[in-house]
This record gives sequence, C-alpha cells and structure tokens, in this order.
Amino acid sequence: MKLTSRARFSTICLHAGQEPDPSTGAIITPIYQTSTYVQEALGRHKGFEYARTQNPTRLALERNLAAMESGKAGFAFASGMAAIGAIATLLKAGDHVVVSDNTYGGTFRLFDKVLTRYQLSFSYVDTADLAATERAFTPATKMLFVETPTNPIMRITDLRAAAELAHRHHARLVVDNTFASPFIQRPIEHGADLVTHSTTKYLNGHSDSVGGIVVAVRDDDIEWLGFVQNAEGAILGPMDSWLVLRGTKTLPLRMQQHNANGLALAEFVAKHPKVKQVYYPGLPTHPHYELARRQMNGFGGMLAFDLGSLAAARTVLNGVKLHALAESLGGVETLISHPATMTHASVPADRRAALGITDGLVRISAGIEDIEDLKEDLAQALDLS
Ligand SMILES: *Cc1c(COP(=O)(O)O)cnc(C)c1O
Repeated sequence: MKLTSRARFSTICLHAGQEPDPSTGAIITPIYQTSTYVQEALGRHKGFEYARTQNPTRLALERNLAAMESGKAGFAFASGMAAIGAIATLLKAGDHVVVSDNTYGGTFRLFDKVLTRYQLSFSYVDTADLAATERAFTPATKMLFVETPTNPIMRITDLRAAAELAHRHHARLVVDNTFASPFIQRPIEHGADLVTHSTTKYLNGHSDSVGGIVVAVRDDDIEWLGFVQNAEGAILGPMDSWLVLRGTKTLPLRMQQHNANGLALAEFVAKHPKVKQVYYPGLPTHPHYELARRQMNGFGGMLAFDLGSLAAARTVLNGVKLHALAESLGGVETLISHPATMTHASVPADRRAALGITDGLVRISAGIEDIEDLKEDLAQALDLS
C-alpha cells in the first residue's frame, strides 16, 4: 500500500494518508475515540498528547485530502464554516478581501456580519470578470476568495488567471472547491494558495456528516493553520473524520455519476417548455462553457433553472416525489431546493435580485440514482406547474 509519486487520482483517494493500523494491521484506519494518550515516560510519547491537538483518524483524513488536492498539508474542522473561519485568521485588522459575489450564503454572513466587526473589509464582485475583479483590489487587499462554479448561478472563474491576479497584488488566492470537488478541479494545480471544502458535501458524499477542510501549500500558512486549529479548537471529531475517509474512497466513482446525471438533467430541463432559463456549465449555451471545458473534468452535479414565478417553483418543489426537498448538496441522493427562501434566505432581497436568484429559481443537486427515474419524477412535477 505504498503510493509512488506517480499515483493517479483514484489511487490517491483510496490510499493516501492511510497505512494499515500499526497495532493490529487493520486495513481501515480505526476511529480513535480517545481524548488523551498515555506517555511512556516524562517527555516521551508517540507524537500524540491530547486529542484537540492530534488524533490519528483526523490526521489520516488530513493527509488524504491534502494529497487529493495536490497540497502539502490539510487541517480538518468541525464544519465548512469553521474551516473558512480559520482561513480568515490569516488576516489582520485593516486587511481587505475580494470575494466572488454569489458566494455561499453562510460565507457571506460570516464575512458581512461577523468579520466586519474586526476591521476587515470585503468587496463582492463577479470574479468571472477578471477586469472587474482587478478593479476591486485596493492596496489593503490580502486575499482573493473565489468559488467556482458559484452557488446557484454557476458562474465560472478562470483559476489560473485569478491566481496570477492575486499574486501580482501580493494577495493569496483562496478557493472554496466544495461545489466541484477535487475530482473535477484541483485549484492548487492552477496556482491557488489555499483550498477549502465543506466536507459535508461531495467529499463525505453520504449526507451523514458535517465537516470542513483547509488544504495549504505555503509553509507559513501551514504553520499558522496548525497553530490556529489547536488554539481555537474547532476540530473535526474522529467519527466524522472516519466517515469522510470512507467517502473519499469512492469519490471518483460517485463524481462520474454526478457528472452524468447533472448533465442529463440540465439537458432535460433546457428542452422543457416551462423552464425559462437553465444554469449549468456543461451546456454550450452557458457563457463560460469553453472555460469550464478547459478547467473542469466534467461539469458537476449542480444545476439551477428558473420557472418564472414563486408559484411555479412551489408547485414543482411540492410535486416531486423522488427528489428530496432539502438544503445541502453533494450527497448520493438527489436534492431539490429553493435558493431564495432556503440556502440564500440570509442574503438581502436586493442582493439576491442582482445575483439572479429570483423567486422562480430552483436548484438541484443531482444524486446517483438511475437518470430515467429522476427525469420521470421531474417531468411529472413540471406537468403540475
Ligand atoms: C455548505 C457549504 C459551505 C459551508 O459548509 P458547512 O459544512 O455547512 O459549514 C461553504 N461553502 C460552500 C460552497 C458550501 O456549499
């Protein structure tokens, strides 16, 4: 089970960070459900002292995800938001951050309602537009925080160009890669300094754990994030670390099916007379289709479409039987949601309107069910509207 430096992505997902358990040979990393570790003698131990600071199950996951994202080190947190909160501690009072404008609602809330209390400032721009992004930079800008594709309008940012722009201004490029997963894109390979995920979504993939990860490459970032993870203590527990490790083993297989089902559903709704507009980067009509083809390995399982009114959206959301009406994404089950009142309810109405998050917009996280069953279910719900 030794990985060579040439190991490909699926092999890395399965094996990176995981050695057979040294005490028994167990092939699966055990859930080390312990708070402390007995030391052999004063000042002599096996590298584990207290479980906030180090836990073998969490360490295996951190090494696994760091390898999957082509980074040097990973830090696992209690949620995706805790991971983003830890990244924010790299900033100091007075610093400015440029952020993708239709970023995850919880990220906007953290930046806008919490971090602005600490003399940090944020500008929200469409990072798919690099000229507009560059204009948003100020001498105080220390970070460019990008999501691509964005949620739920699926704008695509050119990661290589974004990294060059950030570095030209001596700022870090941070990418929230939750929507794509490292199967589809690995931002560090395009020059990003930090990658973060809500492991709650595709990485765990089975809708049974909440967690977050930060993957870093710069030595100064690695030192600080390790320090902050221990100092603030928002760590991922051993049971959740184990669940995500189980999830990453099948990520490539799941993502192939998410990609196939996402594309098939997008093509299906694009042809439906009741659908006004479709947002999916894998449709040639998408404004960033060529960039998505270059940058992404498949177009993902997330799509959104506009039914023109709240009433029509409500009829479809209440009419589906197989699609589960729920927030979240990236699990094996197909979920359907209403961004304006669910995931983006904390975004002010005027901002929602500017972003295109209308009352008629419906979002789907395509799971891995048989595509014919998904299409039939959606078709019968659209007929009701
Ligand atoms: C869900 C999500 C988060 C937040 O993660 P939690 O695990 O819910 O805290 C951050 N970014 C994106 C893109 C997400 O989808």
